[in-house]
Amino acid sequence: MKLKNDEELTAFIKDADLILIGIGEEWGISFEEMIKVPSFISRFQKLKTEQDRERFVPYLQREYLKECRNAELERAYQKLLSLIEDKDYFLISMNKDRFPVQIGYKEDRCVFPCGGYEYLQCDKGCSGELVEASGIADNIYQKICGEDVEKIEIPRCRDCGSPLVFNNIEAEKYVEAGYFESWDKYMKWLQKTVNKKLCLLELGVGLRFPSVIRWPFEKTTFYNQKSKMFRIHHNLSQSAENIQDRCYSKEEDSVTYMANLFVS
Ligand SMILES: [Zn+2]
Repeated sequence: MKLKNDEELTAFIKDADLILIGIGEEWGISFEEMIKVPSFISRFQKLKTEQDRERFVPYLQREYLKECRNAELERAYQKLLSLIEDKDYFLISMNKDRFPVQIGYKEDRCVFPCGGYEYLQCDKGCSGELVEASGIADNIYQKICGEDVEKIEIPRCRDCGSPLVFNNIEAEKYVEAGYFESWDKYMKWLQKTVNKKLCLLELGVGLRFPSVIRWPFEKTTFYNQKSKMFRIHHNLSQSAENIQDRCYSKEEDSVTYMANLFVS
C-alpha cells in the first residue's frame, strides 16, 4: 500500500522494538559527482590512458569518500539517525562509502557487503588474502597528485603477480571475507527480531543485487507478522504481493524523502 504521510513512518519507528535499515544505490556517490570537484578534475585529467584510469580512479574515489560532501545525503543520514539512535538497530548498505559510520552510526551495527576501500586484494582473488589499504593507498594517492602517473608502480599480489585492487565488488573476483565478521553480527541480530515489532526501512535499493536486501527484507516481513516494511525508491517502490498489507511504499528519491522528513 502507499505510504500516506510521514507520521505513518515515524510513528511506527517510535513504536518498534527493532529497526532494520537497508541502504541502496540511491544513497551512493557517483563518479560523475566526484569529477565535478575542481581538485579531482585536475587529478583525473592526469590519467590519460584507459589503463591508468582503470588503475588509479579507485584511489581518487577512496580519497573522495573520506568525507561526505553531499549536503542532502548527510542531512538524510542525520535525520534517520536522530530517529533511531536510541533504538536497537542494524544497518546494511550496498554502497562502498562509510558515511553512516562517519556520521555517527555505530560501526558494530553496520555491515557493508559490497566492500569498500579498507583493504586491498588480489584482483584474481587467488589466495583470498586481504591487505590493509591505508598506507599503500595514501602513498599512491600522493603520487597521483605529484608525479608522472606512468612512474607509479602499482602494488601486486605476492602469490600470482596480479595487481592488488580494493576489496569491493568491482574486483574481478571479489574476496568476500572482508565483511564476514559484521555479516555474522547481522545474522545474529536478525535472529533476535523473530516475533518482535520490527520496522524495516528499505531506502533506495534497486535491483542490482536483490538477494542482499530486497528479497530478504520481503521474506522477513512476510514471516514476522508484527513487522512493517517501508520501501522508498524513485521508481522501484512496488511491494511484493504477499506482504502488501504490511509494506508501505513511496515513489520518491529516498535521500530527498528522508532529508525532508517531518519529525514531530
Ligand atoms: Zn594473486
